[in-house]
Amino acid sequence: MLCYGSEKESLSLLVALLLRFELSNPIIWVNMAILSFLSRASRTYKGYPKLLVLCTLSLSSGGLLAYSESQPDTRAPHVDPYEKEPKKKRVVVLGTGWAGTSLLKDLDASLYDIQVVSPRNYFAFTPLLPSVTCGTVEARSIVEPIRNIVKKRKGEVKIWEAECVKIDAANNKILCRSNIENNLVGNREFFLEYDYLVIGVGAQVNTFNTPGVKENCHFLKEVEDAQKIRRSVIDCFETAILPGLSEEERRTNLHFIIVGGGPTGVEFAAELHDFLEEDLVKLYPAVKDLVRITVIQSGDHILSTFDERISSFAEKKFRRDGIEVQTGCRVLSVSDKDITMKVKSKEEVCTIPHGLVVWSTGIGTRPVVRDFMEQVGQAKRRVLETNEWLRVKGCENVYAIGDCATIDQRKIMEDILSIFEAADKDNSGTLTVEEFKDVIDDILIRYPQVDHYLKSQQNLKDVTDLLKDSQGNDWKEVNVEQFKLALSHVDSQMKSLPATAQVAAQQGAYLSRCFNHRIQCEEHPEGPRRFRGSGRHRFRPFQYKHFGQFAPLGGEQAAAELPGDWVSIGHSTQWLWYSVYASKQVSWRTRILVVSDWTRRFIFGRDSSRI
Ligand code: FAD
Ligand code: MG
Repeated sequence: MLCYGSEKESLSLLVALLLRFELSNPIIWVNMAILSFLSRASRTYKGYPKLLVLCTLSLSSGGLLAYSESQPDTRAPHVDPYEKEPKKKRVVVLGTGWAGTSLLKDLDASLYDIQVVSPRNYFAFTPLLPSVTCGTVEARSIVEPIRNIVKKRKGEVKIWEAECVKIDAANNKILCRSNIENNLVGNREFFLEYDYLVIGVGAQVNTFNTPGVKENCHFLKEVEDAQKIRRSVIDCFETAILPGLSEEERRTNLHFIIVGGGPTGVEFAAELHDFLEEDLVKLYPAVKDLVRITVIQSGDHILSTFDERISSFAEKKFRRDGIEVQTGCRVLSVSDKDITMKVKSKEEVCTIPHGLVVWSTGIGTRPVVRDFMEQVGQAKRRVLETNEWLRVKGCENVYAIGDCATIDQRKIMEDILSIFEAADKDNSGTLTVEEFKDVIDDILIRYPQVDHYLKSQQNLKDVTDLLKDSQGNDWKEVNVEQFKLALSHVDSQMKSLPATAQVAAQQGAYLSRCFNHRIQCEEHPEGPRRFRGSGRHRFRPFQYKHFGQFAPLGGEQAAAELPGDWVSIGHSTQWLWYSVYASKQVSWRTRILVVSDWTRRFIFGRDSSRI
């Protein structure tokens, strides 16, 4: 085990040991049965008040506390879903992914008429999708019906299982189409009008228009994709052992290629390797030596967004495990039999046969968002842009959160003159340190890059250190040119946020708070002062808080990058991963299902049935 940062590591080890101990405890199953019985009973007898079942799973020491919370009598008030509630503003939310669900969890339905449009009526815990591809966890364990999530709201939330196919921003309405294929009597299409629209439709797979990718590759974006990969992996093995095949043909069937060395591609490669080593080699001994896993990466390293220590550990581990990593290769085309790529260093093109290709190279904009971007004057942009309050640029009442949008952070240099004028209270044409201190809090909130810049510069301990000359002497007063100079490098610290569940969930939670406090904040604005106008902003701009990221590497080892430049790699990090991912589940139902899936895998291995 490789370890950096001993204090947190021992904490993680503790959590891990606790979890490991509990999972190997046979009493858990008895308690689960009791829990299940009590839960059923509580559902049957709805008149019971809140029933809290505390189930202490203990052997001789320690214990994992699990509880099942039955709902109070939730017989919903009788509301006609089609009845108009003119007093309430209509909020239409598109998508039930990380962003949409996090918004819906807290959005106050007593204040708004909320309608949700999504082609899938559930929330999927995407970080566990790679585990679904190999049967480490079951697909149903990582999804929660969206109706379950929103049923605790104070008012009714209307959910329409359909896809938004067109946003008509000029008329404040959207066109939706049901995606239910069978037995739908009546019209598949309908319009919805909105006062506020929240776009949280996520992104789609980006094939970079590479020929043959759509037709011949698997993707790993949706639950269905993961289920399809699981079946195809088994298919490859069943095909490879059929009589009458040459050894070369068997080898081809068992060559698994992953295009993309980002976190998803690497995690899938690691999962697949574990599945082969732990389960399939015992079931298909005749072909176990013919299996090959290759990761193709266009850059120089896999996991390039992670700390260098993690990236090089992953490469070494993969080499030891026999997973081939081909860096500096660009895929030119994919056919049903082989994949053609260009090796950048040698400028040569090579073709390799495959049994299965998983394409995991990044994300692109969905057509409905692209069309909307054209309407609001963002046709030339790559991604839909919002301001720091997550409002779409060019639209008053449309917000965009999650993977479908990016925040266009305002540069401090664009407002530098206004900031100077606002700070120069006595209109002297110069700023004293006191005058600067008066506005600094508002600057730090409005332009978060200032804080990032201060943290990145070792010689700047305090924000007033900005007002020093190159020799480190304090300026008593600064004129506008000196002020510009002092802040001239700050904007270099602007970074766009990654397309992750963490960002999407925080944006959803932020927006629901803004909606819920809209009236109060109109009277008592809580945002920073407006430098290019008067008064204050109604809300503080969205600010992302990074809690770190994980990369499971197989063989019960994982890597974690946590805030404060702290890196942890090894077996205990894998246990930290288990505890974090169990705790992050959206419901107790999925939490218990996921933990029991992990337990099942420890005891019985993964299920290789092709269903
Ligand atoms: P999504 O979660 O994709 O949700 C989009 C929603 O919009 C869905 O409900 C979809 O059905 C719906 N929708 C689509 N089209 C329409 C339409 N036309 N009209 C209405 N609704 C529509 N991030 C992490 O932080 N950590 C991880 O470990 C991690 N692992 C990942 C592993 C995998 C395999 C994948 C694919 C992603 C992973 N991510 C991870 C990234 C994370 O899943 C995304 O950043 C996150 O899902 C973005 O949330 P979102 O709500 O914007 O989009
Ligand atoms: Mg002055």
